[in-house]
Amino acid sequence: MKELRSHYIDGQWVPSRSSQLIDVINATTEEVMARVPAGTPEEVDRAVAAARAAFGAWAATPVARRAEFLQKIADALAARSDEVARIITAEVGMPLKLSQRIQAAHPPQVMASYAKLVREFQFEERLDNSLVVYEPVGVVGAITPWNYPLHQVVAKVAPALAAGCTVVLKPSEMAPLSVYVLAEVVHAAGLPHGAFNLVCGTGPVVGEAIARHPDVDMVSFTGSTRVGKRVSELAAQTVKRVALELGGKSPSIVLEDADLPRAIKGTISSCFLNSGQTCTALTRLLVPESRYEEAAQLAVDTAKTFDPGYPMKEDTRLGPLISDTQRERVRGFIRKGVAEGAELLLGGAEPPPGLRRGYFVQPTVFGRVKPGMTIEQEEIFGPVLSILTYKDEEDAVRIANGTLYGLAGAVWSKDEARAQRVARRIRAGRVQVNGGAYNLLAPFGGYKQSGHGREFGRFGLEEFLEVKSLQLAE
Ligand code: NAD
Repeated sequence: MKELRSHYIDGQWVPSRSSQLIDVINATTEEVMARVPAGTPEEVDRAVAAARAAFGAWAATPVARRAEFLQKIADALAARSDEVARIITAEVGMPLKLSQRIQAAHPPQVMASYAKLVREFQFEERLDNSLVVYEPVGVVGAITPWNYPLHQVVAKVAPALAAGCTVVLKPSEMAPLSVYVLAEVVHAAGLPHGAFNLVCGTGPVVGEAIARHPDVDMVSFTGSTRVGKRVSELAAQTVKRVALELGGKSPSIVLEDADLPRAIKGTISSCFLNSGQTCTALTRLLVPESRYEEAAQLAVDTAKTFDPGYPMKEDTRLGPLISDTQRERVRGFIRKGVAEGAELLLGGAEPPPGLRRGYFVQPTVFGRVKPGMTIEQEEIFGPVLSILTYKDEEDAVRIANGTLYGLAGAVWSKDEARAQRVARRIRAGRVQVNGGAYNLLAPFGGYKQSGHGREFGRFGLEEFLEVKSLQLAE
């Protein structure tokens, strides 16, 4: 078992001052697979001081040079992608094949995308007698979740460094190990000391110390809406810039003329991806009343193909959830769905047969779910699909927009123009039209209580820039 006792501060591995360690649990074996340090506010102070000291020189480093560092980090991360995939599969439970394709492959791609984007970005523009200049925000505090642990980290660290900001990162204490790989890679790349700092620890201690720190200029948070609100409150005391990427309860609207099998397959693949532990999961399937029976049957048949199993096995499509707490939460939602009168079409709160270890939950499908039920409103973060019916397009849009969230959505129709029209009416930051592919350069982020700010591509870079105007004499 690995015991990591250091943080990465000011270009060095610094032994934690606290003797307290946090267990990292393997989601499948339920055994402790590693321990990481429980950092302290003093260690945050040290990391912020290092980031502050490094800021001036890093901000002044030519863009092409910054881009070279990012490309170097991208290449080194790509070279370690198999190791990263295995780590995350063990921590989080995502089937290895998917971890390789998503958890390990996306971070170097995103890192490389910023090496390119920042070279092309116009850091100045003329507006009559003004020169508008884009400058890095300063010291960025980044706080990230466990479900896509390295991807969410790189979504912040890459554009922040590209923009010329320095970073203090607190990854999720439940899945921190791939982020230690990133720190090793950053170290080997020779990034100037203090530009990137890693402090491991819990949210209430290390996370809050970052959010309230007077010398942090911006906090970029990905996680639950509940914690996002707390981070905002703390950050408001020093009027920090805040970017929040929060939860979701995303609708998939199937219009009556849609290719139903394709729409159902696409929706369930999204809903069950990473055992439902995906912020953009399409968890509410909205079908016209006239096609309900057909849709429910197809949903059950498709969901049955997601047989829970060991995530390191080649053919597994549904791994365990990350933790006992998460499993119990999801089971609680399933019981609540039954109690509130939704029809349980597949699965349930009982453990899947034959899997005595691991935080597994059965793939679960509810039919005849009504707007306003708990399972229709709240983010479950497990493999649970709710099927609802609607009367007409107006009704579908109303139901789709009827939650506090607005992160993602999907629309399916043979009539592409109509699908796009409905997609525009969904109050969410990212909407798939007829299963359009994931795009790492497209803006990603929420409306309503799914947060504010955008990540990835040019939009993600702009998050970390201040805008200044110089009024020039003619
Ligand atoms: P979480 O909110 O519990 O934790 C996220 C991070 O915040 C962790 O690093 C945690 O240690 C830290 N934290 C906890 N309490 C804190 C506090 N009081 N102050 C500061 N930091 C604190 O979320 P999670 O369980 O790790 O992740 C799941 C959630 O993340 C889901 O709601 C999911 O939808 C959301 N998520 C959103 C996106 C997105 O881009 N919108 C992406 C992935 C996950």
